Amino acid sequence: MTLKTKKAVELFCDGESPKYEEMPNGWIEIFDASWESKYFQKVEIEGLYRPVYCNKLIIPALKTAMHAIVRNATFLHEYEYIEVFQCFAPRHIRNNPHLPLSLHTFGIAFDINPEENKVKSLKPSIPMGIVDIFESVGFEWGGRWKLKDYMHFQPREDFFDFQETWIYR
Ligand SMILES: [Zn+2]
Repeated sequence: MTLKTKKAVELFCDGESPKYEEMPNGWIEIFDASWESKYFQKVEIEGLYRPVYCNKLIIPALKTAMHAIVRNATFLHEYEYIEVFQCFAPRHIRNNPHLPLSLHTFGIAFDINPEENKVKSLKPSIPMGIVDIFESVGFEWGGRWKLKDYMHFQPREDFFDFQETWIYR
């Protein structure tokens, strides 16, 4: 089951939504520094060029996945593929103010090389080796949805149970 916004807040932010204001084009502005500092962390992750600002609870899975990608020689060129890794983006789903908040708001979804993997792209440029590894640690890939979102990954609804089965350590 795909993780919905309400459940995401329960699982990743102790049921606590941030205080925010609506901004133009489906963006929001969070004016709740204590909420952010409680649930977010800026972290260096092997294989990613810039520090990632994301929800603390996805960091172990992210590190595990990136380590597996970097370590595996056959994925070397694929690891170099990740140039842009975007996680935190406070906005509504598809920037539509009538839809719930995007999981990017909670720092648990991330987009890889968005320029090459737009929603209307005919096919992803993301190597399947990378997709497989992110899926193996509990992320769902938007490239499998009916409305393809190739750049996008987010935790499965059973993300935390799923980690029992991690094959990459
Ligand atoms: Zn996304």
